[in-house]
Amino acid sequence: MKPKCQHIQTIVRVTPSARGCEECLKIGSRWVHLRLCRTCGHVGCCDDSPHRHATHHFKATHHPIIEGYDPPEGWGWCYEDEVFIDLGANVTAQLGPIPRYY
Ligand SMILES: [Zn+2]
Ligand SMILES: [Zn+2]
Ligand SMILES: [Zn+2]
Repeated sequence: MKPKCQHIQTIVRVTPSARGCEECLKIGSRWVHLRLCRTCGHVGCCDDSPHRHATHHFKATHHPIIEGYDPPEGWGWCYEDEVFIDLGANVTAQLGPIPRYY
């Protein structure tokens, strides 16, 4: 059996790095859902999106926890343990309306 996720302790209050997926905004691409890194505030896109920037961010940085973020949905995901996390009220407010490309 897998041990319970210990990364929950690493969750911090962050300021989102952008209003949409940082990398997609730069290249003018679109995304399906947004994921917010709860270590540094990086905003990336989910695995249903063409570029999967949230997963790329994890692979590059090993920041374990992301938050469902369009809008904040109250759940997180630990990439290391592959488990969902209940964030309760510990969610991140959006900076403003999320720009959409589709
Ligand atoms: Zn974990
Ligand atoms: Zn993206
Ligand atoms: Zn990060």
